[in-house]
Amino acid sequence: MEKPKLIVDGRRLDGRGFEELRPIKIEAGVLKRADGSCYLEMGKNKIIAAVYGPREVHPRHLQDPSKAVIRYRYNMAPFSVEERKKPGPDRRSVEISKVSREALEPVIMKELFPRSGIDVFVEVLQADAGTRTACLNAASVALIDAGVAMRGMVTAVAVAKVDGEIVLDPMKEEDNYGEADVPIAFLIRNGKIESIALLQMDGRLTLEEMRRAMELAKKGVMQIYKLQREAIMRKYMREGEDYEGSEEAMEVERERECEEAKGEGEKERENRKEEGRNE
Ligand code: ADP
Repeated sequence: MEKPKLIVDGRRLDGRGFEELRPIKIEAGVLKRADGSCYLEMGKNKIIAAVYGPREVHPRHLQDPSKAVIRYRYNMAPFSVEERKKPGPDRRSVEISKVSREALEPVIMKELFPRSGIDVFVEVLQADAGTRTACLNAASVALIDAGVAMRGMVTAVAVAKVDGEIVLDPMKEEDNYGEADVPIAFLIRNGKIESIALLQMDGRLTLEEMRRAMELAKKGVMQIYKLQREAIMRKYMREGEDYEGSEEAMEVERERECEEAKGEGEKERENRKEEGRNE
């Protein structure tokens, strides 16, 4: 097929400007049986991430007595792409799983969970370019949802060169016909970018283009980071609200009042004894 024009009158095929992300939706805690989970949409990408652990590692010989073992499985559903994808792992998914695990490993406080394992499963339900970065964003939220201690958040986005321009968050057509595709993930700590967690490149960029790509990626991830945080806050605030009115909360409150009343009675008795002694 002939390459279509990807930029027309300074706009991209879907109407976005060069520095614009696709619409993003993130929801934490969507799966009941996983310890942590996340559903994420980034444009037409649809991703589910599930985290299990920290838990005992099987087979046992894989255990590390000094730290947790992290496993990451990236998988594309057969119906996620236009033509049915053969189910199961392939070279691409093994590579993506490896680099994504390596991006998350230094961020997870593995030393706190010796002999245990943390399993991260990401499933691509619908793909439209930039799935490895979208999956990392979902995995990071799912890990936090599972209560795994982290040094910060991993937030990722791709940058591409299309029709000679550097653009943020390429979609399928831009990925297919672009000159370069650069997925980047950062470790963000206390609202600040601290380091690069993943950097890959398909195609070529000049040093100046690479600088511009970094600049765009940094702007993009700060917007995604905000949405990741909001997703986690939404989940835990929801739970907090449920807790406020629950039977359990009322029971705790009754016990507290009882303890207080007992305390008052005790104090009064002490006072009376004291007064008796003074008389
Ligand atoms: P990423 O999804 O991280 O950008 P790639 O650059 O390897 O990774 O893939 C770009 C896009 O190509 C994917 O998001 C997906 O839409 C499409 N794609 C990948 N693998 C297949 C496949 N086996 N069949 C059809 N489309 C695929």
